[in-house]
Amino acid sequence: MIAELSLFVSRRPTVICLKCGVSIPQGSMLLAEDEKKRGLCAHCAEIKGLQLLPPGDAAMTRRSKKYSSRTVVVQEWNNKRKRYERLGQFVEPQAIIQAKTECESDESDREAKNAKAAVKRRIEDREYRARFAVEIRNLFPSMPDGRETAIAEHACEKYSGRVGRTAAAKEFDEEMITRAVVAHIRHTETNYDNEFGKGKRKREIREEIRPEISLMLRRWKRERI
Ligand SMILES: [Zn+2]
Repeated sequence: MIAELSLFVSRRPTVICLKCGVSIPQGSMLLAEDEKKRGLCAHCAEIKGLQLLPPGDAAMTRRSKKYSSRTVVVQEWNNKRKRYERLGQFVEPQAIIQAKTECESDESDREAKNAKAAVKRRIEDREYRARFAVEIRNLFPSMPDGRETAIAEHACEKYSGRVGRTAAAKEFDEEMITRAVVAHIRHTETNYDNEFGKGKRKREIREEIRPEISLMLRRWKRERI
């Protein structure tokens, strides 16, 4: 299979176009398999006649690609996020028109589908939190009432990207649960949050409260009598 070529906003100082030999300055478009490989300048990439479809509309992206005989994705490295981000894709103008017509004709269907999916996600999310809380309670039967819910809620907020999507039971391993409980103890049962701003380092503060946390973990782990 031939690797798909993308247009990159080149970060390299100067790259020589494989076809015409022109130098491609930093910040200009480079058509290549990946940014580190050699490639073609924007002129030789032959995107003339193609139209840039901005990113953000999944259906338009998918459909315009389907109707275009050629698609060139444009990517730029985001240094803050340490990943490439799509700036859109070049496709034939007729493909955009066709995709738009198709999207307009089934817009209400897609909206209904999205709404349904959102409801499903919310339900899964709630079930996940509830199951998580049960697992916490099972591992720490002696913790005060209601804490399992608070911990599950908080942990799920923190990893909200993961929740629902990966609502698999294997997610709830003992280590993960303990980590969530430790964080909860740290903030609710120790002086942790008040120790900042006194010239101590985070590691130092954590070290200080470690015995307190261990004790509390042991207590909460005990079978309820
Ligand atoms: Zn060239």
